[in-house]
Amino acid sequence: MPAVLFRDDSIPSVSLDAAASPALSTLSDDERLFHDSVLDFASKEIRPRVREMDERAVLDPGLLTRLFDLGVMGVEIPESFGGAGATFFHSVLAVEALSRVDPAVGVLVDVQNTLVINALLRWGSADQQRQHLSRLASDTVGAYALSEAGSGSDAFALTTRATSQGDGFLLEGRKLWITNAAEAGVFIVFATVDLAAGYKGITAFLVDRGTPGFTIGHKEDKLGIRASSTCELLFEGCRVPRAHVLGEVGKGYKIAIETLNEGRIGIGAQMLGLAEGALEHALRYTQERKQFGKAIAEFQGVQFQLARAATDIEAAKLLVYNAARLRDARQPFLKEAAMCKLFASEVAERTASLAVNLFGGYGFVKDYPVEKLYRDAKIGQIYEGTSNLQLVTIAKTLGLRP
Ligand SMILES: Cc1cc2nc3c(=O)[nH]c(=O)nc-3n(C[C@H](O)[C@H](O)[C@H](O)COP(=O)(O)OP(=O)(O)OC[C@H]3O[C@@H](n4cnc5c(N)ncnc54)[C@H](O)[C@@H]3O)c2cc1C
Repeated sequence: MPAVLFRDDSIPSVSLDAAASPALSTLSDDERLFHDSVLDFASKEIRPRVREMDERAVLDPGLLTRLFDLGVMGVEIPESFGGAGATFFHSVLAVEALSRVDPAVGVLVDVQNTLVINALLRWGSADQQRQHLSRLASDTVGAYALSEAGSGSDAFALTTRATSQGDGFLLEGRKLWITNAAEAGVFIVFATVDLAAGYKGITAFLVDRGTPGFTIGHKEDKLGIRASSTCELLFEGCRVPRAHVLGEVGKGYKIAIETLNEGRIGIGAQMLGLAEGALEHALRYTQERKQFGKAIAEFQGVQFQLARAATDIEAAKLLVYNAARLRDARQPFLKEAAMCKLFASEVAERTASLAVNLFGGYGFVKDYPVEKLYRDAKIGQIYEGTSNLQLVTIAKTLGLRP
């Protein structure tokens, strides 16, 4: 029976069926099973490799194969193409669970699902889907190349050119900061067919690794998420057939805006998982470490800090899950996506910093896992739109204009 929560003549009555309205963070049986199996995989298969991958700044290739086997590299790809045929929310759960152990692996899976596969599912032609989706589900990593040296926050100031030539385009230019570039077999590349047309010239192309005139350049040596590759891409007389245009010529800006709105929820999930991992380490350590004759977790000052971190994480989770569920329900989620990325990335940094503090000197050395999470947290406030740019978006939804 629905329970009437309150009744007042001035306020419409609200009735909620407790069974049909679980907490926003409640997972269905299927979602719980999926999340837990990815977390179990992360604990068993990724955790033993985290330190070495971070130090060597490379992803273990064996791990990549296992990620494909696990089904997290093609979460939303229909089963007919060999994917898991699941939802965007499942992608978010996978990114959260993986990032709890290694946010560098989390972002690999995030870009694959929330940007590359998402764009192909929404804008790919039947031929393009046939050509790419089975590979992306089974053995091919994807990358998403929008940023350039001179265009980051102002992404549509990009200058990589696509000149129409016969039945194709000639790509010329340089992309920077491209996640997954070292491993990827297919790249979504944004270029302009007409610099003078501004954002209306921007077009998305599917470019295979190994296409003549396309090379992977310098790999960045980063502060955090070091096992995630970040490289420049060089296009020098790279010929791409017209059939490789994703969506329509001149509509690349729409693809970029919409996929990045969704991608932001994935980064929110990455940062949520990171914060959960940091809190887990802090809880364990503070109950083991003794000072003044007792576990440091018995000091109320420490308990308050842990309680505040847990509250932060719960709030971040509600924002991330809400944005992801709105997206799956085809409801507007622009503001919610910006808020969840903004907040979850701040929570990740705060929680990882607290974990370092609570580990004391051990928090500052590489023998313990929290210094890496502290380094990894910083990226959440930078990529897929800096925190300032999320605030710009949120301010616009309040009706504010610069
Ligand atoms: C590890 C890593 C991985 C990445 N992966 C990818 C990828 O896979 N694909 C891709 O295309 N890109 C990727 N990027 C690029 C990333 O999205 C950009 O770095 C980011 O959007 C910021 O752009 P920028 O570095 O040019 O900084 P800038 O845009 O130059 O910003 C510098 C500062 O100015 C502030 N600022 C700029 N404009 C405004 C404004 N209007 N109002 C207030 N403040 C403002 C910013 O908030 C920031 O603090 C990656 C970057 C990194 C570091």
